[in-house]
Amino acid sequence: LRRDPHQAFFHADVRAMLRSIGPVLTEHPEYTDVVGRLCEPERIIAFRVPWTDDAGHVRVNRGFRVQFNSALGPYKGGLRFAPTVDLDVLKFLGFEQVFKNALTGQDIGGGKGGADVDPKTLSPAELMRFCQSFATELASHVGAAVDVPAGDMGVGSREVGWIYGQYQRLIGYHEPGAFTGKPAVLGGSALRPEATGYGTVYFTQRMLAEQSRDLDGARVIVSGSGNVALHAMDKVIASGGTVVGCSDSRGSVAEPDGVDVDLLREVKGQGGSVADYAGKRSNAQTSEGSAFTQECDVALPCATQNEIGPEVARALVGNGCWAVAEGANGPVTPEAREILREGGVAFGPGKAANAGGVGVSALEMQQAAGRERWSAEEVDERLATIMSEAYDRARDAAERYHGDPTDLENGANAAGFLRVAEAMTALGVV
Ligand code: NDP
Repeated sequence: LRRDPHQAFFHADVRAMLRSIGPVLTEHPEYTDVVGRLCEPERIIAFRVPWTDDAGHVRVNRGFRVQFNSALGPYKGGLRFAPTVDLDVLKFLGFEQVFKNALTGQDIGGGKGGADVDPKTLSPAELMRFCQSFATELASHVGAAVDVPAGDMGVGSREVGWIYGQYQRLIGYHEPGAFTGKPAVLGGSALRPEATGYGTVYFTQRMLAEQSRDLDGARVIVSGSGNVALHAMDKVIASGGTVVGCSDSRGSVAEPDGVDVDLLREVKGQGGSVADYAGKRSNAQTSEGSAFTQECDVALPCATQNEIGPEVARALVGNGCWAVAEGANGPVTPEAREILREGGVAFGPGKAANAGGVGVSALEMQQAAGRERWSAEEVDERLATIMSEAYDRARDAAERYHGDPTDLENGANAAGFLRVAEAMTALGVV
């Protein structure tokens, strides 16, 4: 940690992981010397991304790929385009990804990448040029057996398609297994866009079942209104729940009668905000604060990191919330998690709860390798199994190493660590 003292997100995550794996190391002292290696990314690639805007000016951003750990398979993790992208954020996300990917039971290592660009401020033509410039540098570091990036915030299937297009042009042959989250016409898996949101809801259903509850009739707040959030909302409604609140980077909406997700999707698709959506509804209230301060049974933070701090966590407990599951990466701060735990709120950590996206990405890699296309039903069935098994792994490790089967956060960390540590030990000191 002394090497990069300013990387606060990464350090906080490493500390949380070290706390979780203490009891694992007591039982498996042979994994102790894996820990130091595990905290150091295998490779970090940082590069210039020059591009020309529509006015003809040359602009420059910074691109990254953090290849964190490849003990279980090729590095796998998304690309994020956002102004907040820096090495601290990407090392934190990459570190999380290593254990999340292990928890899916698939043979994939962990990585993360992106660039410090705000894609919302670029025209489509500028964004394509940006993706092509980004891919030009990235191309020599990725490949189906090396590193398989996908989308993340600000990088949807359109952008993955453009990045893959430039990659294919540079390498001179088809290698659809080198990227996942591609448009369907380029070999993107059925249900990949839906996978993270659906998977978060499948995981939540397993958590609720342990409390003899379910989503049928539940009031659910889903923050964000992007890829993960909108698909989580669809699945909540299909499961009999009501989405009573949502948000975006400009504000939040409370709608006790239920959010009209089709209308929200349409408004967001046209570049509007949740406030624009609320303007079309008679019973929707807008606010500039958190979406999670109204009454709800279940909270699914699906927007971004650190959305739920201590104050919002106290509001959730006070409002009688039963369960929180992280659709986003790191949306609940450590202090807030403690408040939820003390308040008896079931907690699904992102490492397990949002693993559905990367789980289906691994299925996309399998389809590419076998030149197959699986139906949405088949992928959905496998996704449900992946989420259920991730839940079981986290719960079993929570019980075994932390004496509490509901401590899914420590359980997910312990279970992910065990799989990676076993592989790293088998590979020797490399
Ligand atoms: P998107 O870019 O599609 O959507 C993000 C949403 O969050 C947008 O609606 C955005 O608002 C909103 N948002 C951003 N900042 C805030 C904020 N401070 N308060 C409230 N809302 C905010 O991203 P994704 O849906 O793909 O990803 C969301 C999260 O899920 C991220 O943490 C990502 O790392 C994680 N994740 C994503 C996976 C995937 O498969 N996509 C896989 C696993 C994790 P606006 O619309 O105004 O921009």
